[in-house]
Amino acid sequence: MPLFPQGVPLSKRLFDLTLAVLALAAGVAGAAPVQDGGVSLIYYGHAVFALEKGDTTLIFDPYLSGNPWKVAAAEEIDTDYILVSHAHQDHLGDTVAIAKRTGAMVVTTAELARMLKEQGVAVHPMGIGGKRAFDFGYVRVTPALHGSGIPGGEACGFVVSFFGVKVYFAGDTGLFGDMALLGQLEKIDYALLPIGDNYTMGAEDAVLAVGMLKPKMVIPMHYNTNPLIKQSPEEFKQAVEKKLGIPVMVMQPGETRLISPVLSQ
Ligand SMILES: [Zn+2]
Repeated sequence: MPLFPQGVPLSKRLFDLTLAVLALAAGVAGAAPVQDGGVSLIYYGHAVFALEKGDTTLIFDPYLSGNPWKVAAAEEIDTDYILVSHAHQDHLGDTVAIAKRTGAMVVTTAELARMLKEQGVAVHPMGIGGKRAFDFGYVRVTPALHGSGIPGGEACGFVVSFFGVKVYFAGDTGLFGDMALLGQLEKIDYALLPIGDNYTMGAEDAVLAVGMLKPKMVIPMHYNTNPLIKQSPEEFKQAVEKKLGIPVMVMQPGETRLISPVLSQ
């Protein structure tokens, strides 16, 4: 018996096959060390994620002190790069302390980079729309509809190609139509999207965002940290999977998943 019924176009068959591989990859959980060829994605709760492969670590928006999820202390973070989407405390967080202790380079928008440099932090300033190669791959800075938390500054998001795995970290943002353009520019493997509402887009708008971005997998963030951003990630998962057929991986704070560069090929 054929794997696929007759008449199913090849592109659809390949898509289904990709989903099957994704489902297998998503099942590999736990705080296991990085396997050959694999990248670890660690969730620290709220909007704090780290990517790890071998000796290279990159963390997004390291808000650990005061983070209600209490997954890790800032002193436990060892990283090479810190990507900061904006200067609100629940995103800038422990950036200065971690960068000074580890010597990590902070990649962020120009105004925030200037402020951090004055505090003795190694920085690489970028601007929205800019793309730059780093030793792990590249970073593209994306727009985000949100306050920057610093006079004259802008909030942003990032597409990071990390050893071949393409991750879109949206930062704090409302829904915007150019997410469709981003979906065309970058073949996103994993989209990390806020669903909390009130400060950012909520779950309903995030479903529309997924439709425009067309990632291979979605991970919700920025919810249930406080009562104002209370959301059901399971309802979001059901809505995305039912309407768009794109799998959603709900991560628990403190959880590590292995994500595979194979998925971006
Ligand atoms: Zn926030």
